[in-house]
Amino acid sequence: MFTLSHTPLIKEDEIASRIADLARMIADDLRRYGPITAVPMLRGCFVFAADLLRALSREGVEIDEVCFLTASSYGSGTTSSGTIKVLQSITTDLKDRNILLLDDIIDTGRTLKHIKELLGDMQPSRIMTCTLLDKPSRREVEFEPDYVGFSINDVFVVGYGLDFDQKYRALPYIGIIEEQIA
Ligand code: 5GP
Ligand code: MG
Repeated sequence: MFTLSHTPLIKEDEIASRIADLARMIADDLRRYGPITAVPMLRGCFVFAADLLRALSREGVEIDEVCFLTASSYGSGTTSSGTIKVLQSITTDLKDRNILLLDDIIDTGRTLKHIKELLGDMQPSRIMTCTLLDKPSRREVEFEPDYVGFSINDVFVVGYGLDFDQKYRALPYIGIIEEQIA
């Protein structure tokens, strides 16, 4: 049986202050290029994207468009299927845009690597990648995001947009799913 751990891994206020830091860093690096087109990966990224994009606006960054992309690599449970399915792609022309590709978490690296290549085919000016969470010990393909909120150990996390079988997305903090050994 899988249950949610009692103590949060990352608390609400820690997430908020790290997002403000990330927004400052991204603004300092990207402001000079002009408006940014944000590409949040659904579904897990919706909460992070909502907070980060507003933090970027506070820093004076212009977001010209938000283009959602739905990809899926996980079936149900806590193990990856290894193949990435694009369930809903982008219809906007990304040519010459400054893309900020956002994801909730990078694990094996397959999803972000694949999606970055896919967007690269649309000839944007640049693609920067940002993920709230990173599990570097789990990487199976070479991929380093440009911005990472928190590096974490190999645990299965939920909350703040991330799910376990579609549950827990609305938790305001990041928690851990633990397997109870009976
Ligand atoms: P990757 O392709 O890097 O292996 O997997 C990335 C995707 O796997 C994430 O966008 C997320 O949907 C899912 N994922 C990886 N680790 C976790 C985790 O600890 N919790 C949840 N809820 N999803 C995860
Ligand atoms: Mg995801």
